[in-house]
Amino acid sequence: MSVDVRAPYKTRVRQALKDEALRTALDRATDQLSGRRAEAMAAVDAPRLRDEARRIREYAIDHLPELLEQLERNLTANGCQVHWARDAEEARLTVLEIARRHRVRHAVKSKSMVTEEIGLNEALERAGIKVVETDLGEYIIQLAGEPPSHIITPVIHKRVEDVSELFQRHLGMPATNDPADICATARRELRREFLRAEMGISGCNFAIAETGTVCIITNEGNGRMVTSMPRVYVAVAGIEKVVPRIEDAVLLWQTASRSATGQEMSVYFSLSSGPRRPGHADGPDEMHVILLDNGRSRILERGYRDALLCIRCGACINVCPVYREIGGHAYGATPYSGPIGAVITPLLAADVTAAKELPFASSLCGACRDACPVKIDLPRLLLDLRDEVIQRRASPALERAAVRAYSETMRRPVRYGLALRLAHWITRLVAGGKDGDVSRLPPPLNAWTRTRVFPSFAARSFHELCRRREQRSTRPPTE
Ligand code: SF4
Repeated sequence: MSVDVRAPYKTRVRQALKDEALRTALDRATDQLSGRRAEAMAAVDAPRLRDEARRIREYAIDHLPELLEQLERNLTANGCQVHWARDAEEARLTVLEIARRHRVRHAVKSKSMVTEEIGLNEALERAGIKVVETDLGEYIIQLAGEPPSHIITPVIHKRVEDVSELFQRHLGMPATNDPADICATARRELRREFLRAEMGISGCNFAIAETGTVCIITNEGNGRMVTSMPRVYVAVAGIEKVVPRIEDAVLLWQTASRSATGQEMSVYFSLSSGPRRPGHADGPDEMHVILLDNGRSRILERGYRDALLCIRCGACINVCPVYREIGGHAYGATPYSGPIGAVITPLLAADVTAAKELPFASSLCGACRDACPVKIDLPRLLLDLRDEVIQRRASPALERAAVRAYSETMRRPVRYGLALRLAHWITRLVAGGKDGDVSRLPPPLNAWTRTRVFPSFAARSFHELCRRREQRSTRPPTE
């Protein structure tokens, strides 16, 4: 991994920008995913699908308390044990307590961003429990000791050669760059883990209130094995994942599949509605569902409802020009990257300034809003967050002073005219007494000219040129 996720933001970005191989990998993967998404959406009535998906998500978030109560009732009626967790610590302690009661030594996990969010793997490992990721991408980054760099394709930053080298080192695989051989090695190793795990852990794509059902979307079938093979199954669901009916979950599943990977539908859509019943051939003896808040209610209270409409498809990430340059690790240790990550990471933190740089990691071009299947206005949310960061005086003092001076100048025409003249003479001076672009500005403005030139200010403003022209045309002709 070329980016140290614990380093300060600017260092992370610099490290990512220096890594040519990372950018090549990102370009290739995001182009492919965006292309597939565009094709899959063009094959259906996309405006209608997006309207319908948004309507379902809006309804769910606007009726969250009632739907969550209904979900709890129906999960319990199905034989599940429901736990409420206010924050990450409560969720971790709940899982640890269940594991302790069942003397769990081995756990297998299906890909889940919410368990990354609460740092579950680290907590289990500290308690002496071996936890193995079973999604191939997650398995690879777990072996590499790295966090995911994309919510759908966590290993987007690695080449096949990197994966082969990793498998040779950790699993003793013979040297090969053949993806089929690499997959076969992973499959063999993971099968052993499935067979010996006492606990399966997953996230939750949708939780259906009317039936008390947890749904997970996968392409590898590992989700089904995680939820049905071990004795105990624990699903961790953010409270915003609830939907009213099974039809809603199916529509969102298809929307997420088309937007995420360009599939009509993912290969597996696993529904779990309780533990194994008498007469059932398989399934867990116990099923637990942890309903996690961890800042989601605060997001609602603070007026960022739309951030909770997200179905984690990753489409906004693939089209983001900033993500495509810097990749997911530049967003830090958060599992959420790209435009949606820049919105929810600061919002999930108790203090928005904990990730104050992220709302500024966007060009506000609007590509994310156009790609989002539930039509979240991400640029608007990013602007609102920027405003909060500035109101909290969390931006650098020099930047605040510069913005204040700019605002004062723009409000007064005379001052604005004088400032333009001054700027012209200053840029001319810096350019060595000539008009033209400035190739090197003095500190602290030199960050701009490190990678581009600074166009110098014109000697006369557009207004001035117009005024002169008008004066010339109204002047009476001389004899
Ligand atoms: S914000 Fe929209 S595009 Fe981005 S991950 Fe969420 S649903 Fe997908």
